[in-house]
Amino acid sequence: MESVRDAAAAFGRRSFEVRFESIGGLGAHAAGQILATAAVLRMGLNGAHFSSYGSEKKGSPVRSFVRLGPPDEPIRTSAPVEAPDAIVVFHAALLRDPSTFAGLKRDGTFIYDAPPGRAPDALAALPRTARVLRVDARGIAAAERSRPNAVLLGTLCAAFPFFSAETMLQALTEEFATRRPEAVASNERAFRRGATDVEAMDGVGRADGDLPVARPEPAWGYLTQPLGGVIPLPGNTAWNDVSWSRTGSIPVFDEAKCVHCGSCDLVCPDLCFVWGDGAPGEVFERKLFGIDYRYCKGCMRCVESCPTGALTKRTETVGLADRLRVPLFPEVVG
Ligand code: SF4
Ligand code: SF4
Repeated sequence: MESVRDAAAAFGRRSFEVRFESIGGLGAHAAGQILATAAVLRMGLNGAHFSSYGSEKKGSPVRSFVRLGPPDEPIRTSAPVEAPDAIVVFHAALLRDPSTFAGLKRDGTFIYDAPPGRAPDALAALPRTARVLRVDARGIAAAERSRPNAVLLGTLCAAFPFFSAETMLQALTEEFATRRPEAVASNERAFRRGATDVEAMDGVGRADGDLPVARPEPAWGYLTQPLGGVIPLPGNTAWNDVSWSRTGSIPVFDEAKCVHCGSCDLVCPDLCFVWGDGAPGEVFERKLFGIDYRYCKGCMRCVESCPTGALTKRTETVGLADRLRVPLFPEVVG
């Protein structure tokens, strides 16, 4: 962006608002922080940023909000962004939730992460006049050893040229220069591919006008809730499926190299490892049989801790986890 005045004029209205829709672990909060930092500290705009999340855990829903305005327009609200100019979706699985689209303006921009292929039917909920862009953020991030947020920031800057790509890249570099200097070059490659490897999805939206905002109300209030109750479908964490929180890689187990020492299981935060008894007369009484990827979030702690190389990090291709999965609870289906 050449000047603060250009950016402010480019907004065309009193503010420019972005909502990042994500799940924990993909870097939506950091993306919002970098965008707001670049806009406020480097471009001289007014801005506000905050995120909302439940438990701070990989796999939980995260929304990050950025509100920007011209330098002479104070931002006096810190409410969530309900009617954004741009929505950036970090995982295609979120397209199943109608609140992901909520409030997008009729001339808004919708950016989502997905590999090439047929556009999901859910995109029909978008305004027909909105701009829809697809980028394989997790695929690019895995190939470039970066994070999806670097890719999606590149796409956002390409979609809105009043954000200077170079300025945003400086903010991104600054974010990682001290914490992970080795990531600076890979983030830059990912950012630049986010700007170029993007696909415009024409004609997918079917809705007319601005989308309605979502203000979810609880089903019951203090006057209407029933006394007591029965949970007809009890569940527990065995039903959790955190596989959508992985960012492109899984640990792959090679039984021939395993000495069944249990180091991987000690460091795994999610009890993914499946053990069983060795056959009578075998050296190992208890043996590692494999990994249940339903619970694996791809943190790679197990790979780092394995002393024999029996666990290796591999890019996750479609169906790979299903093929290699050893169920921890075979009775849990779906
Ligand atoms: S750390 Fe490696 S060798 Fe030890 S049980 Fe796990 S996979 Fe096997
Ligand atoms: S990558 Fe390894 S340690 Fe991390 S959740 Fe998956 S199995 Fe557990």
